[in-house]
Amino acid sequence: MKRFWLSLPFVLAGILAIVLLRQLRTSNHELVSYRLSRQVMGTLASIEAVAPPSMRKQLPEVVSRAFTVVDRVEAIMSPYKDDSLVSRINRQAAQEPVALDGWTAEVLRQSQMHWKLSGGAFDPTCGPLIELWKRCGKEDRLPTPEEIATAKDRSGFDKVILNLEADPPTIRFTQPGMRIDLGGIAKGFAIDLAAGELHKSGCVGGLVDIGGDIRTFGRPDDDAYWQIAVQNPFHEGTLRILSVHDAAVCTSGNYQRFSIIQGHRYSHIIDPRSGMPAEASPSVTIAGANTTGTDAIATAVSVLGYADGMKMISNLPHYEAMLIIGSPQAFEMKSSVGFDKFVRN
Ligand code: AMP
Ligand code: MG
Repeated sequence: MKRFWLSLPFVLAGILAIVLLRQLRTSNHELVSYRLSRQVMGTLASIEAVAPPSMRKQLPEVVSRAFTVVDRVEAIMSPYKDDSLVSRINRQAAQEPVALDGWTAEVLRQSQMHWKLSGGAFDPTCGPLIELWKRCGKEDRLPTPEEIATAKDRSGFDKVILNLEADPPTIRFTQPGMRIDLGGIAKGFAIDLAAGELHKSGCVGGLVDIGGDIRTFGRPDDDAYWQIAVQNPFHEGTLRILSVHDAAVCTSGNYQRFSIIQGHRYSHIIDPRSGMPAEASPSVTIAGANTTGTDAIATAVSVLGYADGMKMISNLPHYEAMLIIGSPQAFEMKSSVGFDKFVRN
């Protein structure tokens, strides 16, 4: 009898666990989901929508609308499309103010804010430096100090006149040869818009993933949390699983996209202060409330490195960081204090 009483708490816990599991299963049956993946913004994107069964038939249309929003952001902000607004800005803004649409004005407003917050580490006006390093990558040579100095001279948000009060808002460059590159923030902005489209359509859960930058809300149809895997930057495989409901998670990495010049690997992220590729962190993951912010901050912290990056994060209450530092042979994972609320194992 004594043994029975001793084991009673375990029996009750077991019953409770079964009841909870059954409830979870039942509620799972009350949701349906639809996921579609395709190439967009030069990478693979996946959009998943979760909704009550009454919306089952609409979900493919809802997901397709979310992709259309991403396509529109790309059409406006891609520097590779001649007819995009960004290309037109880069051709004309040194001669005259160029009118902005609402989305580009918002991305530039947030870019300017993150440029200030990061002490210039995030700077989408470093287009001339990005292009210089790209060209040198193709020619397998390092840029000369003069080339870097010229490109640096043509970069800097302080050389931009952004008039957001005008109707329509406008941008103007104060020097010829300047170019903006929104590659460090536009993906995050597109993800926020696409997630907003799912939400607006009545979805109770959703996930938008563009090339590993992710926004989630609600929950999936078959689990209590969305699970986001943070990749090991050095080898195939996962470093950590983050379990989240509503979150934006972006990873920037020196080891993800790079060019090799004379046998040395150079990051696609440029330190606007030196004009050199960022060397500091192989992988920076930022978690936060919106993807536009996490995208820009991940790029900024990649430039700043561990000490200055963590200092920046400690001043931003809505964002947390996880950095991989070191070499493939000896690397360490470092997180800001609040990051662990996202971690399951
Ligand atoms: P991400 O993968 O979000 O870190 O963005 C990297 C992209 O942002 C690069 O491919 C460039 O297009 C652009 N970029 C590079 N360096 C910077 C920088 N320091 N600030 C803002 N954008 C940058
Ligand atoms: Mg970014």
